[in-house]
Amino acid sequence: MAEKTFAGLGVCDEICEAVRKMGYKHPSKIQAESLPYTLKDRDIIGLAETGSGKTAAFAIPVIQQLLDDPQPFFALAMSPTRELCVQIAEQFEAIGSLIGLRTAVLVGGLDMVSQAIALSKKPHVIVGTPGRVADHLANTKGFHLKKLRYLIFDEADRLLSMDFEKQINLILTQIPKERNTFLFSATMTSKVQKLERASLKDPVKIEINTKYKTVDALVQNYIFIPAKHKETYLVFLLTQFVGHKTIIFTTTCAQSQKLALILRNLNFKAVNINGQLAQAQRLTALNKFKNGERQILIATDVASRGLDIPAVELVINFDIPSNSKDYVHRVGRTARAGKTGRALTMVTQYDIEVLQKIESLIGQKLVEYKDLDSKAALILTDSVVEATRLATMEM
Ligand code: AMP
Repeated sequence: MAEKTFAGLGVCDEICEAVRKMGYKHPSKIQAESLPYTLKDRDIIGLAETGSGKTAAFAIPVIQQLLDDPQPFFALAMSPTRELCVQIAEQFEAIGSLIGLRTAVLVGGLDMVSQAIALSKKPHVIVGTPGRVADHLANTKGFHLKKLRYLIFDEADRLLSMDFEKQINLILTQIPKERNTFLFSATMTSKVQKLERASLKDPVKIEINTKYKTVDALVQNYIFIPAKHKETYLVFLLTQFVGHKTIIFTTTCAQSQKLALILRNLNFKAVNINGQLAQAQRLTALNKFKNGERQILIATDVASRGLDIPAVELVINFDIPSNSKDYVHRVGRTARAGKTGRALTMVTQYDIEVLQKIESLIGQKLVEYKDLDSKAALILTDSVVEATRLATMEM
């Protein structure tokens, strides 16, 4: 069967041109399956993960409608994290660049006043976390959503598991009943079903089955090492993969901070993002990594879901994630959009059961990483111990 085209799905010329410029040659599966409905004013519920192209899937119909009828506060997209909200806004602006589409991002941890100023400029699309959107609805003069045309829930399962239910229900009472709603979720939970009943009208259900499968272009290995030499082996791996765009995942904020200090003491160009940093710091770090100023990003699971960072070549699980699904999300940061990538998981004597749980979730045995010369690695011990001592003092 011939591959579908955006034009063939009913996408207008202006948007076809915009997505072509963004390098989208063909619609992704979720786009191909949802656009015929969403462009015809149907509500949809899409079971799809980040990486499937779902952002464009919901942005395109909104922008196409906006072309006909430009007006402020046209769409509201809600997403669980600040970083995802920023990413969504960026995609709306890129696809809507031809009409000068304006967005406002309303997320916690950033200044309410500057967000209120952004709202006063009458953006077409608002992207935010439910808490902050509700906050502005209650407190920002002149801001209302009485004419909203599109409501989008992104990662609804996560929105609901983060206790945003109350704010979501409040927002639902303040927007028109006549509207279109798109609900995207990685999993179907009973809370998502409840939200579906409360907010969607006769939705078309589209399921893109990428569930807990890692892609074939991803090489996945584990490295079995004694816990006490973890930092040393990490440094050794980084010297082996020098020049690779790398994300290192840790379990705790403190660990991510400490690793960042250790690596900086050893002259690696590393930045760090975790939930304890202020939002502005997180975005700065992320941008430095995205634009290549820094080759190494150290992150907690805050960053493991959804972040779209182009061309990550290597993911290192410094701490193996105890929640197996986090493994899939973490390694999904590489080998994206047809590129190849590698994931290395550091496994210590305490982690074997966790590794087995991950293997059973992804239905695949990880292969041991063979190019690890322990003798060469352990030569680094003294300098890593010293860098660690300094890092502990700095903390
Ligand atoms: P998402 O699932 O929305 O986070 O999208 C994941 C990545 O795929 C983003 O970098 C998008 O820019 C990209 N993308 C979305 N649609 C397409 C497409 N049709 N062709 C190629 N890349 C796409």
